Amino acid sequence: FAKRMKRSIEKNMQKSTMTEENIREALKEIRLTLLEADVNVEVAKELTQRIKEKALGGYINEGVNAQQQMVKLVHDELVTILGESLSPIDLTKKPTTILLVGLQGSGKTTTANKLANLLKKKEKKKPLLVGLDIYRPGAIDQLKELGAASGIPVFEQGTQDPRKTAKQALAFAEKNGHDLIIFDTAGRLQIDKPLMEELNDLRKITSPSETLLVVDGMSGQEIINVTNEFNKLLKLTGVIITKLDGDARGGATLSIRYLTNLPIKFIGEGEGPKALAAFYPKRMADRLLGMGDIATLYERAMENIDERSIQKTMTRMFMGQYDMEDLRNQMAQMAKMGSIGGLLKMIPGANKISEQQIADGQRKLAIFTILMDSMTLKERRDPRLLKALTRKQRIIKGSGRSEKEFNELITSFEKGKKQVIEMTKSVKSGRLPNLNA
Ligand code: GDP
Ligand code: MG
Repeated sequence: FAKRMKRSIEKNMQKSTMTEENIREALKEIRLTLLEADVNVEVAKELTQRIKEKALGGYINEGVNAQQQMVKLVHDELVTILGESLSPIDLTKKPTTILLVGLQGSGKTTTANKLANLLKKKEKKKPLLVGLDIYRPGAIDQLKELGAASGIPVFEQGTQDPRKTAKQALAFAEKNGHDLIIFDTAGRLQIDKPLMEELNDLRKITSPSETLLVVDGMSGQEIINVTNEFNKLLKLTGVIITKLDGDARGGATLSIRYLTNLPIKFIGEGEGPKALAAFYPKRMADRLLGMGDIATLYERAMENIDERSIQKTMTRMFMGQYDMEDLRNQMAQMAKMGSIGGLLKMIPGANKISEQQIADGQRKLAIFTILMDSMTLKERRDPRLLKALTRKQRIIKGSGRSEKEFNELITSFEKGKKQVIEMTKSVKSGRLPNLNA
């Protein structure tokens, strides 16, 4: 019985939290939290707009699992915004050449090695890594160490002009039968003209199968402009987002895909040579939801709705407008906050209440909630309607409760309403009730 009761409460609570108004409030919170997670304004707006249209357009049925339906809706729209299908590396050209570009520290060198490892294993490629970052001391050594550790040859010519090195690398690859060449280029802290010219020259020399921008998953909004700048000159074919293993919020993934229309090809999930995964929009959406971001924002949205509905009820109470809808909201809040026993422990002086009384109270709360859920909103807003025998019978039948329980609810509600009116009067006249008494 307890199980059935619990299920029933859950069912009814979900019903009570997914009204049209609540959907709107939830969306507002979702939008705010997306912005806080550094998702671009336009993207956040678009995403919530799409969810709103579907949610209000009847995709969410009030009732069982409305919350899950809402989460699914958020999930589906995330997938759409992230791009629908998997975008693999174009391997048609022989040899396959990949130019990795991006800001300093974004993860190009690490990714070059990861990508070589991945395509060697999955596509049976014979990769060659080419070190073209002649500006940062140690950059080429870094690539050599990574390559050595995973048995992938690295071609480099020290600080010689990278254009010349690229040409020599192509010749070296041909001679040694490498069918995959990955060029690790130099980066800057910001985009500058000489670098872009150098990269453009390298593009012409290597005529890449793919020109991939490597982006730090922790980047903020500025990354959209950076991506657009790179894309304008270098005609990018895709993006790799790194460092998604830390507490990056993934806001960048959402924004980049939607605003630049470039496919996200891989994501970096660690520093090791294997920590590179193909980008699956569905999985990413799962991850965003499962990892907490969206799940958390959804929970937060719901929490805030609860707070607001409490405030609303309070305001209504002080205006003397207490009805059964308010009572139902209060009860839903109470049920959500956990056991009544736990709540009572927080109230000074309440420790005299026995376990039996607590259990009775809990049971009543559940029964009253079920009864009130069998009423129409109109009836809850105007409980005088409940005096009509046909209504009363309908509600008793629909809820599966007894007439005695129905009458108890009415008595409790009227008693509560009287108390609310008394309290409002005393507050208004300045005689504040002593809540700690
Ligand atoms: P580059 O300047 O673009 O070549 O960047 P690097 O490849 O040198 O990477 C900069 C730092 O980021 C290094 O310490 C890498 O180990 C680290 N890094 C790169 N990709 C990832 C990743 O996916 N996850 C984590 N946790 N660290 C990464
Ligand atoms: Mg580097």
